[in-house]
Amino acid sequence: MEIAPGIYSMTQRKGAYVHAFLLDDGDGLTLVDTLYDTDAHRVLAELDQIGKSVSDIKHIVMTHCHRSHLGGLALLKERSGAPVYAHQWEADLIAGERKQQPVAWRPYAPVRVWPLQIALNLGVARHPPATVDHFVQEGDQVGPLRVVACPGHSPGHLSFWWEQRRLLIAGDAICTWPSLMLGWRGFTLNPTQHRASVRRLAEFDSQILCVGHGEPLASDAAQAIRAALPSLDR
Ligand SMILES: [Zn+2]
Ligand SMILES: [Zn+2]
Repeated sequence: MEIAPGIYSMTQRKGAYVHAFLLDDGDGLTLVDTLYDTDAHRVLAELDQIGKSVSDIKHIVMTHCHRSHLGGLALLKERSGAPVYAHQWEADLIAGERKQQPVAWRPYAPVRVWPLQIALNLGVARHPPATVDHFVQEGDQVGPLRVVACPGHSPGHLSFWWEQRRLLIAGDAICTWPSLMLGWRGFTLNPTQHRASVRRLAEFDSQILCVGHGEPLASDAAQAIRAALPSLDR
């Protein structure tokens, strides 16, 4: 679904209302994350609906390596021929060469993602592995997006900023499901890094906010993030 001109949001319930995004800057498509399902049918259907084909995808960029975001990656990489970009720390996880870093075993808010924490720690849901072609870091450019290092949720977690559109893609540093939360504590590997990262995201003059779990905010994003900042210290 088009949430703003050239910004398309895709979601599925499995993986906790996980989201992926297609961005059209007039010079091909950039795909951010790939949803849970391994057949990528929702991404392919969205391409169909907007009159594009899978070969229009020029870049596939990953916020981080958690299972919910990786499902369609291998298939979409193969079908599009597009290079995959991620932080180096996440790359061997994406390639299936390393086990996931365990997250908290105990429940935190929102308690309904607790089963996902357990599933991650037990390694029950594998993804089809894919090779990362380019390691990216703070300040790099991928299609229309500037890479924003955003460690905390995971060491190589990335956010993205499309200056011209005032679009912030926060990945899992911020969630809007089941309500706006500055990250899920049970999944945050380094809370100190995470708080610093979110404070930095709040400095962007963002209008639109896209997140890894939950619906995008289509307006006044920066105000919403800044208003939630006191919750970081609770
Ligand atoms: Zn995650
Ligand atoms: Zn996630």
